Amino acid sequence: MATAAPLVVRLLASSVSVASRAGKIVRDVMSKGELGIVEKGKDDYQTEADRSAQTCIISSLAAQYPKINIIGEEGSPEHEGEIPSDWLITEGDEEVLKLVCPGNLQGVKEEEVVVWVDPLDGTSEYTQGFLEHVTVLIGISVNETPVAGVIHQPYYKEGLGVGKKLGRNIWGLQGAGVGGFSLAPPPSSLIITTTRSHSNPVVEQALQVMNASQVLRVGGAGYKVLQLLEGKASVYVFASPGCKKWDTCAPEAVLAAAGGALTDVLGRRYKYGPAEPHPNKTGVLAAVNPELHKYALERIPQELKDALAKK
Ligand code: AMP
Ligand code: MG
Ligand code: MG
Repeated sequence: MATAAPLVVRLLASSVSVASRAGKIVRDVMSKGELGIVEKGKDDYQTEADRSAQTCIISSLAAQYPKINIIGEEGSPEHEGEIPSDWLITEGDEEVLKLVCPGNLQGVKEEEVVVWVDPLDGTSEYTQGFLEHVTVLIGISVNETPVAGVIHQPYYKEGLGVGKKLGRNIWGLQGAGVGGFSLAPPPSSLIITTTRSHSNPVVEQALQVMNASQVLRVGGAGYKVLQLLEGKASVYVFASPGCKKWDTCAPEAVLAAAGGALTDVLGRRYKYGPAEPHPNKTGVLAAVNPELHKYALERIPQELKDALAKK
């Protein structure tokens, strides 16, 4: 991809293109029906789709941006034989390449960038057939802050019948905005979105205090943030340590580019530098605007915040 666009814009364009390819891998593994499930830990699974999608994303980005630090959920997955040549994506999304890079990001160098990759967010839901919840997440951080990212939804259906297309890319760039979907205002009553498969008594306690009209339980950090962006939920609340930096980097970048915020349940931003610990130990609290975020933050009892911070 030979273009004069600044690094962050080129990298986002490459990430959007490779996320689409990874999404096709996710669909292909499912259609073949051999998921190759491995249990990494308690309630923590990996499939052939997680491994192959990560190989596709990391090989493609590393070949084009050799000095960037790329951290993927699946570590260095074993790949038997040569990586298929059609997994190596070199083009960049044309629409993203036209974006005007904000001044503060124009001079960013490869050495200052950490890319956080979740090749398949919502693996539990993927294995159980809740395919709409599945996303591919590529988040770009500069000086510890998520500045750009893509949330790819492999099973999103656009149009009907002839011309039907599967998959879409939702992207955001700090100072330039978001694309790939229609940003919608939050619902008129308070609707919370939270985990479907990783709840516990503390998670439930934090939901009870919200005084919500409805609680949606869906898989994946990417899909929950999509619900906020599309006006289907008001706040994402998860008062538990299970999410990792690759779950939140891309969603935080897109949400921030849309005017929202993603923090821990104490209201602090996570840092995304190369040496940061992977777990987001103090949970997730996200909203599409500062007012809703403040409301939810104030509702969570101090004892619950203190207990999570001590872990
Ligand atoms: P969920 O909202 O449960 O779909 O979780 C969002 C992301 O965080 C997914 O990638 C999960 O795998 C991860 N996650 C959350 N809680 C846990 C947990 N207790 N153990 C392992 N992964 C978790
Ligand atoms: Mg994940
Ligand atoms: Mg994952």
